Amino acid sequence: MEDCLFCKIIAGQIPGDKVYENEFIYAFRDIDPQAPTHVLIVPKEHMQDMMDPRAPQAIAHMTEAAQAIVRSENLEQAGFRAVLNTGVDGGQSVPHLHMHLLGGRSLQWPPG
Ligand code: 5GP
Ligand code: ZN
Repeated sequence: MEDCLFCKIIAGQIPGDKVYENEFIYAFRDIDPQAPTHVLIVPKEHMQDMMDPRAPQAIAHMTEAAQAIVRSENLEQAGFRAVLNTGVDGGQSVPHLHMHLLGGRSLQWPPG
């Protein structure tokens, strides 16, 4: 996708603070972090959101990456939050499927 911000970060056309990469996944720090750890985990293959028919498989790869990042960021014991914002009401601003991984502070619930 030529005009997709996250596709450009994955391709290295826009700098991203990479924390993890494998064949299927690219993960980088959010530019506007909402917690001490705030990582975006995205499939390398462009898809808009979790309603894409390819999303179940992509989310499995994203979860595997999240487990590795949770360990490398030392969040396993304290806990963390993984979020998939979807569509307008979900507050999604970048139309490339991504998981927010947030941790390093006590997070509130419910969200605003
Ligand atoms: P959404 O609102 O779609 O769930 O999340 C998009 C996230 O992408 C936001 O948390 C926002 O801060 C982050 N973001 C937007 N532009 C950039 C960028 O250029 N680089 C990085 N690393 N994150 C970005
Ligand atoms: Zn994309």
